[in-house]
Amino acid sequence: TPGVRPLIAGNWKMHGSLAEAAALAGAVRDGAAGVAAAELLVCPPFPYLHPVAIQVGAGLAVGGQDCHAAVKGAHTGDVAAAMLKDTGATYVILGHSERRADHGEADAAVRAKAEAALAAGLTPIVCVGESEAQRLAGEAEAVVTGQLGGSLPEGFAAAGGVVAYEPVWAIGTGRTPTEPDIAAIHAAIRANLVQRFGEAGGTLRILYGGSVKPGNAGAILALPHVDGALVGGASLVAADFLAIAAAA
Ligand code: PEP
Repeated sequence: TPGVRPLIAGNWKMHGSLAEAAALAGAVRDGAAGVAAAELLVCPPFPYLHPVAIQVGAGLAVGGQDCHAAVKGAHTGDVAAAMLKDTGATYVILGHSERRADHGEADAAVRAKAEAALAAGLTPIVCVGESEAQRLAGEAEAVVTGQLGGSLPEGFAAAGGVVAYEPVWAIGTGRTPTEPDIAAIHAAIRANLVQRFGEAGGTLRILYGGSVKPGNAGAILALPHVDGALVGGASLVAADFLAIAAAA
């Protein structure tokens, strides 16, 4: 999208050790200046977020992979948005398909988390995407726009929220939709954002995620309304993550 700086976000999921997180974050930070056209973000597992944030300083953005909807309270094992902010995060991934599948997060829960993120001053990255059965049934666009309607809170556009389109069947599989299919869904997301939020919806970043690699990043990131990428597996190798950023 013209005038929009692409965001290349690394979702480390539940991988690595403290030492590996430090090595990866350091290598990505050291390479970030060389790919300054894009904003780089890494999202480590919770225990590694603070040390990574301290280590990279202003050289790299750091985000969480989830947060709780409540400000605080009796929620054993959960993490509040303000805690992420406090430890150095500026972004939080919400509604990832693995959270939706593993923890039964439905749109209303994702929306509540996004509201909590906004209240804490974090930028939410809200994930949407169809299953393979939904894609084959021709329902991809309807599923995605339905998820947007249910998952995005009112203040989302004013706070510069980010949408990530991640077809569930493309995550970690090495498969991606065709370029026209990616472009079609991103155009539909853009139309939905503009319809709901007006002019502000026209410049919100829409990321593509699902088996993005150095080899396919250039073609995907050149598509209209693709304003960056959410990267899983390839974000665990600094050279690959930086190569994807260089393609943006
Ligand atoms: C993800 O889970 O956000 C993702 C895009 O994973 P991968 O790049 O490994 O497909």
